[in-house]
Amino acid sequence: MNKFKIGCHLSSAGGYLAMGQTARAIGANVFQFFTRNPRGGAAKPVDPADVRAFLDYAEKEGIGPILAHAPYTLNASGADARVREFAESTMSDDLKRLELTPGALYNFHPGSHVGQGAEKGIELISSMLVRILSRLPKPPATTILLETMAGKGSEVGGTFEELRAIIDAVEPMLPYAYRLGVCLDTCHVWDGGFDVVGDLDGVLNAFDSVVGLDRLHAIHLNDSLNVRSSHKDRHACIGKGKIGLDALVRVINHPRLRDLPFYLETPNDLDGYRDEIALLSSRRS
Ligand code: FE
Ligand code: FE
Ligand code: ZN
Repeated sequence: MNKFKIGCHLSSAGGYLAMGQTARAIGANVFQFFTRNPRGGAAKPVDPADVRAFLDYAEKEGIGPILAHAPYTLNASGADARVREFAESTMSDDLKRLELTPGALYNFHPGSHVGQGAEKGIELISSMLVRILSRLPKPPATTILLETMAGKGSEVGGTFEELRAIIDAVEPMLPYAYRLGVCLDTCHVWDGGFDVVGDLDGVLNAFDSVVGLDRLHAIHLNDSLNVRSSHKDRHACIGKGKIGLDALVRVINHPRLRDLPFYLETPNDLDGYRDEIALLSSRRS
């Protein structure tokens, strides 16, 4: 019987130990947090004592892996050089800070090509990742995840092929062996056109043949306010959207997914998250 790894997005305002304690209090054993204000800007300095206290606590309570989410306003594929430079310096800094919490996952949105075309966007994202990773003296202690996107506007990463193209452009260029990963967001892939309700097996087979399921490290478990292929990216609470509870229960129990960590990003306060974690735990087979 493998443990059900379930948690949600938490505020990082109180530091690492506070997030760990909050997670435990609502029945979570994993959690996600923004590395800094989601609109960007400077990150608070990491307090090494807080990190040490958290790592002890996480070990004792069986919490992890933690998932650090880059600010969603970063755009590694922007048309403006200053926008790209900001993304690059932010991600470099995030990865440096994450060296203090080895084994963490780091998720980012590939970006929007803003009219330059997906191919150009993929090239910009890939070259940035190569520069960031090449400057690190060794492979980072963190696994970097590309998030599957809803294909809103000119978003890159709305198809499995685009994620694969980024991976193929990055890995051979690195000075050390390193594997990029993927985080699959159920709302995004549904909004992007994948039928996770009627044909979850088909979606996973497609993912496996294009990206490889061995690269899937995390699931963002969200319902969607909109119908399939809407390309909207509006999250709904579990069971309150167009994906529905039964389909999401099949996701958490699927033999090819069930050992992954699941992170809720549903529009909830802590009580709402506690209720969703309890509901999903009760439906775990
Ligand atoms: Fe995200
Ligand atoms: Fe997400
Ligand atoms: Zn989203």
